[in-house]
Amino acid sequence: MEFPKENFSGWYNEVVEAAGLVDKRYPVKGMHVWRPYGWKIMGNIDSYFRKIFTEYGHDEVNFPLLVPETEFKKEAEHIRGFEDEVFWVTHGGLDPLDVKLILRPTSETAMYPMFSLWIRSHADLPLKVFQIVNIFRYETKQTRTFIRMREVHFFEAHTVHRTYDEAEEQIQEDIEIWKKIAKKLALPYRIVKKADWDKFPGAVYSLGVETIMPSGRTLQIATFHQYGQNFSRPYGIRYLKEDGTHEYAHQTTFGMSERLLGAIVGIHGDDRGLILPPEIAPIQVVIVPIVGSKKERVLEESKVLYQEIKDSGFNVHLDDRDNYTPGYKFYDWELKGVPLRLEIGPRDLENNQVVLVRRDTGEKISVKREEYLDMISKLLEDIQKNLLSRAEAEMNDKIKYMESIEDAKSFSGVASVNWCGSEECGRLIEEKTDKKIIGSPLDEHRPGRCVICGKETNILAFVAKPY
Ligand code: ZN
Repeated sequence: MEFPKENFSGWYNEVVEAAGLVDKRYPVKGMHVWRPYGWKIMGNIDSYFRKIFTEYGHDEVNFPLLVPETEFKKEAEHIRGFEDEVFWVTHGGLDPLDVKLILRPTSETAMYPMFSLWIRSHADLPLKVFQIVNIFRYETKQTRTFIRMREVHFFEAHTVHRTYDEAEEQIQEDIEIWKKIAKKLALPYRIVKKADWDKFPGAVYSLGVETIMPSGRTLQIATFHQYGQNFSRPYGIRYLKEDGTHEYAHQTTFGMSERLLGAIVGIHGDDRGLILPPEIAPIQVVIVPIVGSKKERVLEESKVLYQEIKDSGFNVHLDDRDNYTPGYKFYDWELKGVPLRLEIGPRDLENNQVVLVRRDTGEKISVKREEYLDMISKLLEDIQKNLLSRAEAEMNDKIKYMESIEDAKSFSGVASVNWCGSEECGRLIEEKTDKKIIGSPLDEHRPGRCVICGKETNILAFVAKPY
């Protein structure tokens, strides 16, 4: 069976279930059940987050899910950004609560009252913590697996610093961390500065990491926010300086979510289903014995191969299911996106070889037994690199510089246009293209004239339809 990817939206909705990532039949809108295979992939991504953030000096914490209304309402802009999308807990049993509670839509308002108790002096800074939890948002738009959900698997890092400049350095470090994550997940991206009216509620400014799905729509897969003192003031996060005076701290956050998995599914998959980057694949190599006339010997040899591959440190699975044909098994593991398939049959036994099949290119390689472990290692590295480089090429094709608003409107990808940076012109760009300014690329500038007012500028705006 094939899944035609031309109709991307239908393809995506079908493949996330067919490949065993989620079950969408759970009877609450926007809350899907993670099935074991999907949860393992997410778990591998989370493990990497734990490893890399720990390396960069963050500690993992775990805050309560519920936040009192009184704490939630301390920062005015933050409330305005979130009040229409939080779930409320109003009763305990049959009794109305004195202070209503919200399910965290993000954890600033849960963490910062505690930060104000933890931080006393400059010696307590920087504070760098993260947590991997679920958050809740009352989405009224159409929901979509991993991309727009009411319950979201979420990563959030929160840092507290002495000065604005130190917080800025943190954001540079966040970008460095992100680059490693992107390589691990084989995801192409651009970092943009969000328009002022589109920044995170309460932030001084926000950066978004944007990728482009095959539909041409952009998907924001990570964010970095500079809070300055906007939260430390209402939450009273102060520290004693070396000179004996008190000062409000400066803060940043770094957020990511299960959207990363949505991007991996959408960007790498093909008509046969998922293609997983080897670095995060729960199964990197699947062995499919083709028993033919020598069932016992082939199965015996398959077990030897399984052990050898496992001992070499790869995630391997032996599909020795009796009641399925090899053809069915091929289809099944292709759908699940396993990067490498190893086939072994009677003739391979005779020739002292195995056959390796790449999921990304379909290429079949016969390799001698003495060399096959090295070949597995080499091919997995190749697949990882190939997925990223072809995704980068596809993304580059979807971003085009345009000089007129009409071209930007009709383009199906991301139009890059000159923009003077004013809110007035920005709003008009959005109105006239019926798209959004997803931000200004951080490292790209080009001299030209604002597509609305004609003023000379080298600022660019990415104009697209975001998810
Ligand atoms: Zn302008």
